[in-house]
Amino acid sequence: MLNKQKLPMVALRGLVVFPHMVMHFDIGRERSIKALEKSMLLNQMIYLSAQKDIMVEDPVADDIYEIGTVAKVKQILKLPGDNIRVLVEGMNRAKTVSILRFDPYLEAEVEVFENNEPPMAEDIVKEAYMRKISDMFVEYGRLTTQISPETIALMTSMDEPGRFADTVASNVIVKMEDRQALLECIDELERLKALTKIFNKEIELLKIDKEINSNVKEQIDKNQKEFFLREQIKVIQKELGYGANDVEEIDELNEKINTLPMSDEAREKASKELKRLASMSPGSPEATVSRGYVDWLTDLPWGIYTEDNLDLVNARQILDEDHYGLDKLKERIIEYLAVRKLRDDMHGPILCFVGPPGVGKTSIAHSIARALGKKFTRMSLGGVHDEAEIRGHRRTYIGSIPGRVITSIKQAGSMNPLFLFDEIDKMANDFKGDPSSAMLEVLDPEINNTFNDHYLDIPFDLSKVMFITTANDIDNIPGPLYDRMEIIEFSSYTDIEKLEIAKRHLIPKQISEHGLKPEQISVTDDAIMSIIHDYTAEAGVRKLEREIATVLRKAAVRIINENLKKVRVNNSNLSKYLGLPKKPDNLVPKENTVGVAVGLAWTAVGGQTLPVEVTVMPGTGKLELTGQLGDVMKESAKTGYSVVRSISADYGIDPDLNEKKDVHIHLPEGAVPKDGPSAGITMVSAMVSALSGRKIRCDIAMTGEITLTGRVLKIGGLKEKSLAAYRAGIKDMIVPEGNRSDVSELPSVVKHNIEFHYADNIKQVLDLILE
Ligand code: ADP
Repeated sequence: MLNKQKLPMVALRGLVVFPHMVMHFDIGRERSIKALEKSMLLNQMIYLSAQKDIMVEDPVADDIYEIGTVAKVKQILKLPGDNIRVLVEGMNRAKTVSILRFDPYLEAEVEVFENNEPPMAEDIVKEAYMRKISDMFVEYGRLTTQISPETIALMTSMDEPGRFADTVASNVIVKMEDRQALLECIDELERLKALTKIFNKEIELLKIDKEINSNVKEQIDKNQKEFFLREQIKVIQKELGYGANDVEEIDELNEKINTLPMSDEAREKASKELKRLASMSPGSPEATVSRGYVDWLTDLPWGIYTEDNLDLVNARQILDEDHYGLDKLKERIIEYLAVRKLRDDMHGPILCFVGPPGVGKTSIAHSIARALGKKFTRMSLGGVHDEAEIRGHRRTYIGSIPGRVITSIKQAGSMNPLFLFDEIDKMANDFKGDPSSAMLEVLDPEINNTFNDHYLDIPFDLSKVMFITTANDIDNIPGPLYDRMEIIEFSSYTDIEKLEIAKRHLIPKQISEHGLKPEQISVTDDAIMSIIHDYTAEAGVRKLEREIATVLRKAAVRIINENLKKVRVNNSNLSKYLGLPKKPDNLVPKENTVGVAVGLAWTAVGGQTLPVEVTVMPGTGKLELTGQLGDVMKESAKTGYSVVRSISADYGIDPDLNEKKDVHIHLPEGAVPKDGPSAGITMVSAMVSALSGRKIRCDIAMTGEITLTGRVLKIGGLKEKSLAAYRAGIKDMIVPEGNRSDVSELPSVVKHNIEFHYADNIKQVLDLILE
């Protein structure tokens, strides 16, 4: 039976009040307080209905649920501030018919529902639900410890279905929406059904929650246990005389090992070693070894990769900025980078820069690193004569450390630096182990992802490293390495190039390195040229740079001592700075001589003039060779000797020279090893001159291989040789006919200053040089 009433109303925020339920809450909104006051004036009855959204401050009809509760105000308590705490008892469910006013308080017309439905035949169903809910309540009581056994007993003994459902709901259902849904179930059976469902969900949630809690607790227990054990260890170790630092250090290392992005193998090794370390007495030799190992493992740049800048335009710009000329080479490098960009991996040939010293091989590698935004590291292989230098010693040796490859990677501080191997052709001859196989393990992209350093004893990934190698002499690069490398040749610079390099790069660089300002010093072109000609004779610009440094150093002293504003270095005062020219002995004869011919050699340090001296003595037909000649050159000398004998008649040479005379061929500058066939025609010329007594022109140099029949064969290294001839002031040069096409590609200074003569036959050579 329904009855209609007009009641002051309070919109509840986050609360649902069930009939029969006593609860208190605080109110603060002006309207609510007024509604409460009004209700106190009536029969203390008030209508409570929940707001759909608790954030709404001034709710309108739509903001409030339609079903609420008529309640009786039992107590009012004024709180500090303007809040009021009310104690209410829920009486009946009610439905809002309309809200009659909003001001000064809410007033609603409501339809009130009876609490209990009359008993009916099918109430057996309700009873079944009630039992089910009672069971659930018992389970619920077990899961939470918040409900007293008395409450449980009271609940389970209730027999009015509607009231039972309300009481259970008000005690166990927490979610506001669920509570409202249950309040809206006017029908008792519906209410029981809905409650079973919601309650079940609540219990499941509770179970999961409990499980999570117990897991968390277990974890905390474990951590706590470890913490206690660790503290105990600390105490024990202190007793044993370990410093607190040692213990802390071990903790720190442990933390590092656990957090660094190491490889699995490394982490495993490091933790194992750390456990051993923890049990050793600190300061003992074995602890030091152990500690060193862990330090090495944790200090490597695990997980650090710099990002490559593969912008080709930028790369070219940087290469140009750092180096003058070298156009072909720069282009080749750009091509290499372009391929890298397309393929996005390091597989591919390893670049090998070959050329004389001081032509910029190392420094261009530096620039490549700068262009790519890579870290740079280098290792010189010159004189390396033990595999252990590359791959480290096993840890069984006291004082062993990783090899220089790993050391350099650590220094570089990234896993993908540019790594320069200098002087790959200079690994010592007495190498212990196989140098090329050790190097292949480092360089070969197929296998270097598991490079094994003896000391670290874990596979280390070098596959992201960009390797570049340098060499002076292709012939000395071990074969297997040579096959995997792409050779890029650097050649000597001409004087003009050197002048430009000095002006644009070396002088500005040295000025700033000496703390000078550009306006404090000037060096004239003449002076630079004089340094190039008279003080240095080299393929590259290394000595030139050193001499420039000397000039600037001395200039700096003058600027300070003599309080000068500016120092001008020119051709006439240059010797004040550098002393008199220390030109190397010029072995080229100054006048036409018997038995001396000027050849040209191509050595690892660039081109060189190579005079050949021959004397003839009474003897028994012996041929003697001195001056550090290689095997090829010796054979070429013997061939030449036979050629001389076969043409002796044409040049007035005694035909039985092999019975009465000894011939001695000497190549001065014995300290420089010489090899190759290209001195063939020079040796023949010198022999013919010595045997015939005819002089050889001193201003003509030659190069060419000789065959037994006197043919002149093509040679290599013409550019270097012609530059050497030019430096030595030679005016005429004889080259094999086969090299005619190479001559057109020579630097223009050479072509302007030297006249080239071509020969394919030794007679043509002799005709040109003999006086
Ligand atoms: P390499 O490695 O070939 O023996 P370096 O790279 O050590 O020679 O070069 C020696 C010096 O000469 C370096 O200071 C380098 O910068 C400078 N240099 C060489 N070639 C050039 C060039 N083309 N432009 C500018 N500087 C150069």
